[in-house]
Amino acid sequence: MTDATPKWAIAIHGGAGSMTPDTLDATAIAAHEAGLNTALEAGRAVLAVGGSALDAVTAAVVALEDDPHFNAGRGAVFTYHGTNELDAAIMAGDGRGAGAVAAITHTKNPVRLARAVMEAGPHVFLSGAGAEDFARDHGVEAVDPGWFATPERLRQLEELKARKDGWFDAGMKYGTVGAVARDAAGHVAAATSTGGLTGKRWGRIGDSPLIGAGTYADDRSGAVSCTGSGEQFIRAGAAHEICARMRLTGESADQAARTVLAEIGVMDGVGGVIVVTPQGETALAFTTPGMFRGRADSSGLNEVGIFGQD
Ligand code: ASP
Repeated sequence: MTDATPKWAIAIHGGAGSMTPDTLDATAIAAHEAGLNTALEAGRAVLAVGGSALDAVTAAVVALEDDPHFNAGRGAVFTYHGTNELDAAIMAGDGRGAGAVAAITHTKNPVRLARAVMEAGPHVFLSGAGAEDFARDHGVEAVDPGWFATPERLRQLEELKARKDGWFDAGMKYGTVGAVARDAAGHVAAATSTGGLTGKRWGRIGDSPLIGAGTYADDRSGAVSCTGSGEQFIRAGAAHEICARMRLTGESADQAARTVLAEIGVMDGVGGVIVVTPQGETALAFTTPGMFRGRADSSGLNEVGIFGQD
């Protein structure tokens, strides 16, 4: 660790998407900025007292899951059939432990369940009713599915269905959440949580809970959380690819993020990524008009942003 290396660093996102200063009003901007600041503060509170990157990304993502403005936990988007199905993943760079869950309908904070899978079970990835049995067995809090539903997300589903030009969220109202952190011990971690895409059906699962696609962490390279058109992020193996590029080519976090986003663009995918390295460098890159995002570190960096020019 050089003098220039921050003791800790954290970056968060609340989803990439089509938002511009013309499409998001002042009230929505203030609400999203407040949510980002709360999540950043939750992560910072852990890291500043020497807590682990894993605890920091858990705390930040729980805060965003509980905030109805973001598409994860409470405020998740609706499936085609009017339900909420949640996906989440978490990974520790130290030893590359990982846990993930998909198609969750009753667990209040899917990231906590992903973490329980990582820490308490023999498996990495659980889905549906089985994952919720695991939650019950491990004391992870359950809620009535109505907890996740908000009127605004229902309106978005109805708008999508009324368009009748396809069942997929072509308007790109992404709002997946994620966090990456580097702690004072030099370990990194990543977590991502989402409701997926409005109007999803057939048990569709995106990149967010897939280790290596939407979420990855490795102390040899860095930690990554993604948001965007999940199908292309899966095909690119995006989060692992960014880590592999940093480890094997020596690219910076920002270079590796931009290279992989460009590859996703060739496949007609768009979105964003957040990256932190074991040296405490952070990168926030996106190819959409905006990405809800923020970062902080022990050297005093502390910022949130929404639009491309922020
Ligand atoms: N990547 C997520 C998915 O495909 C969507 C998002 O980022 O909002 O499920």
